[in-house]
Amino acid sequence: MDELVVYGGYKVFMRREDLIHPLISGNKYRKLKYNIKDVKSKKQSTLLTFGGAYSNHISATAYAGKVYSVKTIGIIRGEELVNKIESNPTLRFAQSCGMILKFVSRDKYRKKEEAEFLEELKAEFGNFYVLPEGGTNDLAIKGCEEILTIDDADFDFVCCSVGTGGTISGLINGSYKNQKILGFPALKGDFLQQDIRKFAKQENWELITGYHFGGYGKIKPELISFINWFKREYKIPLDPIYTGKMMYGIFDMIKKGFFPKQSKILAVHTGGLQGVEGMNLKLKKKGWSLIE
Ligand SMILES: *Cc1c(COP(=O)(O)O)cnc(C)c1O
Repeated sequence: MDELVVYGGYKVFMRREDLIHPLISGNKYRKLKYNIKDVKSKKQSTLLTFGGAYSNHISATAYAGKVYSVKTIGIIRGEELVNKIESNPTLRFAQSCGMILKFVSRDKYRKKEEAEFLEELKAEFGNFYVLPEGGTNDLAIKGCEEILTIDDADFDFVCCSVGTGGTISGLINGSYKNQKILGFPALKGDFLQQDIRKFAKQENWELITGYHFGGYGKIKPELISFINWFKREYKIPLDPIYTGKMMYGIFDMIKKGFFPKQSKILAVHTGGLQGVEGMNLKLKKKGWSLIE
């Protein structure tokens, strides 16, 4: 479903992937779809994956595991969280879906792709199917290629938020050459270019790096005000980690004249709304205004 948002004389269409499902929303649904099928067809019983304390991917995987009867294990960054499950809405939800949570130090978490660490995990949990952090692998990209359809051919720009680069890679592969895919990284760092090149089959894309607001999970009061204004104005909720930063960026670029007049712009609402509750708990501690 698309919704029209008019700003500065431009029509921006929003693809409401956040409405796919209340709990496995947006791109995390797309990324899990073929992976869950693969787990099932390989007759594997357990899916293991990685994520941070507020991860949309952890939450979606836990719920998908419950629905499709696959055991799930979440390797969570940060040992200190082990006693904080109850006060963290994402972890509490994941656990309530039956996900086994294992907390590891940040050092250990960095080694998550190394064979040695995976062997250790196999010794502890037995055999499992591994999904990388953020759920990004070939099958995830295949799922994200389905976001765009032939009916989208007349969009000049397709915008999405970028975490690990899986979603934008799917959009690039599913787009026409004359379309431009703009990715808005939610984090700092130059590794994304290479990561996207591993999966993307076309060159019609660009990363817009000025709207990460200090890095992954970092926010500023002006971002919160924007998200609240956007919801009042358009009745569309945004999340503070990904889609809020992207829409802030698109509107700012409209103001600065980046888009030629008459351009047709599609912004993909990738979901992430489960993270709002956790962010509000942090904002409350800081004494900042909350996300409405
Ligand atoms: C995970 C996520 C992203 C980033 O997707 P990648 O495929 O990792 O780049 C964007 N938006 C939302 C809402 C997400 O949950």
